[in-house]
Amino acid sequence: MQARLFLRLLTSPSASTRAYIIAVLLLLTLSVFPQYQLQWPGIRCKEGGERQSPIDISTSHVVKDFNELFIKYGPLKFSGYQKVLVTGLNNGHTIQFSTEGDESIHPTLTGGPLKHVYRLEQLHFHWVSEHSLNGFKYPMEIHLVHVRSDLTVMKALGKKDGLAIVAVFCHVEAELDDYLQEASEEIMQYIPRLLVSGQRISGILLDLTKLLGPNMKTYYTYAGSLTSPECNEAVIWIIFDRPIFLSDEQYRLFSKVGSERYNFRSLQKLSERSVYTPPRHEAEVPQFVSFVGTLAKVFIHFFKNVTSFLQKGLRSR
Ligand SMILES: [Zn+2]
Repeated sequence: MQARLFLRLLTSPSASTRAYIIAVLLLLTLSVFPQYQLQWPGIRCKEGGERQSPIDISTSHVVKDFNELFIKYGPLKFSGYQKVLVTGLNNGHTIQFSTEGDESIHPTLTGGPLKHVYRLEQLHFHWVSEHSLNGFKYPMEIHLVHVRSDLTVMKALGKKDGLAIVAVFCHVEAELDDYLQEASEEIMQYIPRLLVSGQRISGILLDLTKLLGPNMKTYYTYAGSLTSPECNEAVIWIIFDRPIFLSDEQYRLFSKVGSERYNFRSLQKLSERSVYTPPRHEAEVPQFVSFVGTLAKVFIHFFKNVTSFLQKGLRSR
């Protein structure tokens, strides 16, 4: 069945039709699509590996990173995302907005799981989403692709932390209120002029903070790979847990994009990896930890007293 028809059915007003189509899509993802993707160039795309993407994120297994096992560098820090100069391009597979001008003026991302500074290179769309949350696929996922700023793209592809990709899920509503509309319209206003393969718009100024989702502090992060050839295992993924919203009308536009049948890779095995999330705030220290902490203080206090009591006792002999 054609992807366009799927998209049309997906945006159908009936929730049950949508649920059915998503189930069919998932089945296809698990069965037919991997065979097609096995023809992709790149040994990792064909044979898989230990850290391939995308994955299903099972929220009950996500590690709250109290011990800074993976999220070692404090809060995420987005710099220069309010005014980003980009070129929009329909490349036949997706619509992509690439940063223009000298690399030194590109927006940068650091902190969270990122030891280095990363510069924004481009953002693009996948429909339906590549990652899933507890088995649920969103209608769309936006990827903001960053490259380690001390490396060229080619060099970064060979490093295990060469790239940082921020993923934002998109949900579809029949109609959006003004607040939700503002977030998506920032970029969606250009899509009607990029529906044909090869179409390009230069000199667009975007406020990407609007796209970055309603809460930039809560995210899932793990070590993974590119989801397109050559599936290099070079990506630190940062996936916001809350979606932005598109209207039915905006989403339907993507069914007109002259792309191939679909543009998402099938789900990959988590294998030995963990997915991490930052502990949201201090008050969320698990009760057991704070209980053990209190207990330890009581013990230390007790033994100090016993020691000084014994010392006094010994001295008095
Ligand atoms: Zn992507």
